[in-house]
Order: sequence, then C-alpha cells, then structure tokens
Amino acid sequence: MPEIAHHMPAAVVGIDIGGTKIAALLVDGQGEILARGVVDAPAREGGRAMADAAAALARELAADAGRTLSAVGVGAAGVVDHETGIIRAASETFADWAGFPLGDELSARLGAPVRVENDVNAFLLGELDHDDSGDDVLGVMLGTGVGGAVVLDGQLRHGPHGAAGEIGHTPGYSDIRCTCGQIGHLETLASGTSIGLRYAERSGETGLTAREVADRARAGDAVAADVFAAAGRAVALACASAAGILDLDRAVIGGGVVNAWDLLLPAIEAALVTDSPVSGVRLEIMPATRGSDAVALGAAAAARRAFSGLGAGAHDPSELEGATL
Ligand SMILES: [Zn+2]
Repeated sequence: MPEIAHHMPAAVVGIDIGGTKIAALLVDGQGEILARGVVDAPAREGGRAMADAAAALARELAADAGRTLSAVGVGAAGVVDHETGIIRAASETFADWAGFPLGDELSARLGAPVRVENDVNAFLLGELDHDDSGDDVLGVMLGTGVGGAVVLDGQLRHGPHGAAGEIGHTPGYSDIRCTCGQIGHLETLASGTSIGLRYAERSGETGLTAREVADRARAGDAVAADVFAAAGRAVALACASAAGILDLDRAVIGGGVVNAWDLLLPAIEAALVTDSPVSGVRLEIMPATRGSDAVALGAAAAARRAFSGLGAGAHDPSELEGATL
C-alpha cells in the first residue's frame, strides 16, 4: 500500500523543457539525484500539452520515489519572466508557447510552487550548484544558437528585460548575418548550426552537423579544424570581454558543440594569451561537466533556493527573491 502523502518525505523536481524532449530530475534537499526521466516534448501541440507532459513526468518520478513535491523548478527554452513564470517569447518550434503562463499551469497541476527560468540560466546554475567558488561566472551555451547567462555575487543576474548575459548576440566577431538578422554576432561563428554553415561555405559540402565537422577536423581536414579554431577564438574573446566588464574569473561553456572541446581549446588558450582581461586576473574558460543534466539540476536548484523559506504547500512565489547560490 502506498503511504499517504503527508507521511512521505519531500523532494524537488527540476524539469528541462526543450523543443524535442522534456527531461526531469528528482532531487532531495541536498541536491542528490533520486530519480530521472525523459519524455518527448509535444511542442507543436501547444503550452497546455507541454505542461501536461511535464507534470505527468514529475508526478511519475515523485510517486516512484515515494516522495511528495515541495517545489518545482523549470528550465524552459525561450524568453522567460522568472517572476511570473510566463513565457515571453519563443521560437516557432513551440506552438502557443509565447504568453503561456507555464509557472501557474504547472503549479495548478502539481500542487507545489514553481520557479521558471530560461534554460541557459538554469544550465549555469546547474553547473555551479554545490560549487562555492562560483560567485562571478559567465555561462555560454553553444547549441543550435548561442545562449548566455551570468552569475554575479552568487546570484543569477536577470536584468530588467530578462536578457542579462545574452552574449550570443553581441557584435564584432564576423561580417556574417546572424539568425537574429544583425551582422557579426558571436553566434555566427560559434553555434552548432554556424559551424556546419561556415564549413559548407569554405568546403562546398553542405548539410554537415557540427559533430560531423568535428570528425572531419580530427581526421585531418584543415578547413574543418579552422572552423572550430574560429569558433574557439570567438568564444574566448567574448568571455574575455565579459570578464573585463564584470571582473569575472571563470566562464563555463556548455551545449553540444562542447563535445569538440579538443578542437576549441587550442584557439581558446591562444586568445587568452593575447587578449586576457587587463585586471591581470587569470580567466578560466572551462567546459561544462554535467552534460544534459545541467538544465534540470539548475532548475531544481533555483526552486530550492526560491522556496527554501516556504512551508510545504505554499503556492505563491511572487514575493520571493531571485535564486541565490
Ligand atoms: Zn544575432
């Protein structure tokens, strides 16, 4: 017989909502992983279908582990209002996602307070969780696009428009048109998509993924190696600029392109020699270590911190402050 709910220990679920998958981790009060699961994301069926799928996954993990949910954290693709849990803008992959009140919809389904963060913010929190040294850090996600996030004084910096840390769309790295329509952004060299495109322009061979370009580079293809060197140099310069402005000593680089860290690293190291911050503080640029768990872990961490002062069953996150490391 299952125990009745109020005798069960509590746990926090972190949910990573992307365009193709919804992944979730159930974690205890110390952040240890109790259970994990993944389902297909019904992104084309609309926000309610996404919330249904995420809530069903969270419920299943909690039930299997014999836990109640004390809080829910979400790392969601798109521009997120973390104070209201509403998705502000999203790519066309997601039907009926912009404007969707994800936080309230999940809270109603799961009976627990919900914290929603942008997925790149959650990624950075996930990489820093349990790491006391990570007080002032830039996070850069090299995926389909290039996302960014920044933690200052141990706190995720959202900015007045929720766009703090968005280094992927800062200019000066090339003369190539970006996915956003502007010219020369970091994303034009460093996203997985861009790596395939830049290789195609120079080799005449179209349609290769970043992973396939990496395989070519490792097999001795000089053009492929050059494309990764350009990406690595651009990422390093972006990190050095951010470090110079914000006095950061660390940047964590995640996303699928980091599978080619061996190809990025020589250019990163070379750029750090020639373009290190004038503060003289050594900037460390390191690859992410938590892989596909980082977003869900960071989402859970954000929820734990946001709701740590609340008793079980509290629903109103509106008066709570930002996630603190
Ligand atoms: Zn751009």
